[in-house]
Amino acid sequence: MIARVPSLAHGTFITRPFPRARTVKPSRIDAQRPRVPAQRQCALRATASSQTRALAPSERASPAARAGERTVVIADTVRARANALNGAMSAHVRVALLALALALWLRKRTLNASSSTPRRKVIVLGAGFAGVQAAIDLRAHCDVEVIDGKEYFEFVPGTLAALAGARPMSTSTFADDAATRAQRAIMVPYAQIFKDKRVKFTCTRGREIDVRDDCVIVRGERSSMEDVRLAYDELIVATGSVYAGVIKSSGVGREMTMQGRMDAYAEARASIVRGNTTTIIVGGGVVGVELAAELAARATKANNGSSVVLLHAGERLLDALPDHIGTYVTKALIKSGVKVYVGQKYERDGENAFIGVANKNVIRGDYVLMAIGSKPATEFLKRATDDSSENATLDVPLDQFGRIRIDPSTRRVIGVESRVYAVGDVASKPPEHMLASYAHWEAEYVATRIKYHGNAKALAKLGAYVPPPRLMAISLGSFDGVMVWGDRVVATGIVAAMFKALVQFWFIRFLPAPYGVMKMLPHMRCAPRDPARLSPASSS
Ligand SMILES: Cc1cc2nc3c(=O)[nH]c(=O)nc-3n(C[C@H](O)[C@H](O)[C@H](O)COP(=O)(O)OP(=O)(O)OC[C@H]3O[C@@H](n4cnc5c(N)ncnc54)[C@H](O)[C@@H]3O)c2cc1C
Repeated sequence: MIARVPSLAHGTFITRPFPRARTVKPSRIDAQRPRVPAQRQCALRATASSQTRALAPSERASPAARAGERTVVIADTVRARANALNGAMSAHVRVALLALALALWLRKRTLNASSSTPRRKVIVLGAGFAGVQAAIDLRAHCDVEVIDGKEYFEFVPGTLAALAGARPMSTSTFADDAATRAQRAIMVPYAQIFKDKRVKFTCTRGREIDVRDDCVIVRGERSSMEDVRLAYDELIVATGSVYAGVIKSSGVGREMTMQGRMDAYAEARASIVRGNTTTIIVGGGVVGVELAAELAARATKANNGSSVVLLHAGERLLDALPDHIGTYVTKALIKSGVKVYVGQKYERDGENAFIGVANKNVIRGDYVLMAIGSKPATEFLKRATDDSSENATLDVPLDQFGRIRIDPSTRRVIGVESRVYAVGDVASKPPEHMLASYAHWEAEYVATRIKYHGNAKALAKLGAYVPPPRLMAISLGSFDGVMVWGDRVVATGIVAAMFKALVQFWFIRFLPAPYGVMKMLPHMRCAPRDPARLSPASSS
């Protein structure tokens, strides 16, 4: 007899001889069924085994006995099938276990092989959004050393609310302790970020570094005032950009420490918020707009006679973004009491005054905040380019803005050894990509490239770098904002503000960036605009 038994491997059926009922040993089923005399049992077994043979009239039994016969036949058949299935399954389980053991053994062998090759030494220069992300991604695979001029990570998008003394999404106000908490909320010591010791952190205490083609020289580090030479197999330059003024940590002088940075905030805040003051903000890009909104919210709340003026040389605010976004933002700012001046360049006329170049309009204030003039942090690369000795600083090519020129598909620095990468704001890229999200994304990509070093198949699968769709949130105080996807406004008001708060919560805890989700978003149209005006900080 032939039975069809499901094959575990493919879900198809295989055929095998069906065991005859009489060969099956008695089991518990026998013990449980109604007792039948021994002779009768023999007759029933004979019936079950022959199955097709008709019974002689003398062998015919009562209806009850016939029912018993049928039950026994079915039970035997079921038992036989179950045994056959068990046999087949255990064979498959055995094969599966064997395959699993083989796979584990092979994996162990591969890991041992790779651990016998020395781990690559990666130096990450600059620990902002890009640098920290690269270090975190690489720490399990390489020996990573991070170098920064200060001792703490600063969540740059949060500095504006902190400056105004507001905690994002908090009804708690502008009392000093709340302001201090707001500052702390956006700063994390590197000692805490890299506390698991898998990443070595070196604080240069300033920006005195020299990049050679095989090492980075840190000047006068660890208070010994001696140079430290750090060799690398791969170098990631992520030194970002610098701002004049308080809205971003300079990373030098007292701002090398967290306490020094908090003191700088506190002083600026005291000047801005003491009451009956006019703060002039220069630059109507994203940074200027967000700053104006934060300060206006504070002035309204404090009701102390303070006011905010925003000067912008372009025809409208946020001229790097589509018109409707600029219009929405301008209306929101005016509604919150900001005086907005657009359409002409203003030149400085004394410490706290500006004069319009076209109409000679004079604007006076008590405090000035510059939301323009960000520069890439590449000074250390330019320093010794005229030195032609073999110990000269690596000759890294810079674009007209001073950013590092890279191959956009690999993020590798053009013209130097292939093992030098530039990520984040320091790299030459479309100005609309000068955002923290892009810095993260680029770092993640480069880290993956380095992880796959020597694995041509994996690198081919990884492919070229593809920037994610633009998804940004512009906050207009704690409870208002605009969320932009591509060129489209997808949310305004409290929803956008909540999104921004969520982003801060996520970033500041260095949770894995949810770029898998971003990758799935279709690219929305982003109309090309004047590149000179697109950087978050470039408008004036
Ligand atoms: C006020 C403000 C608000 C912003 N808001 C947003 C926002 O809401 N959303 C958004 O996506 N983007 C925003 N941006 C832009 C965003 O902050 C940047 O795109 C992002 O910081 C770039 O990250 P990065 O890692 O490339 O560089 P950075 O964050 O600039 O980090 C560079 C790091 O390198 C270190 N460094 C520099 N030079 C040296 C040196 N020579 N030696 C040692 N260390 C060095 C610095 O100390 C710093 O830690 C904002 C920017 C500003 C200024």
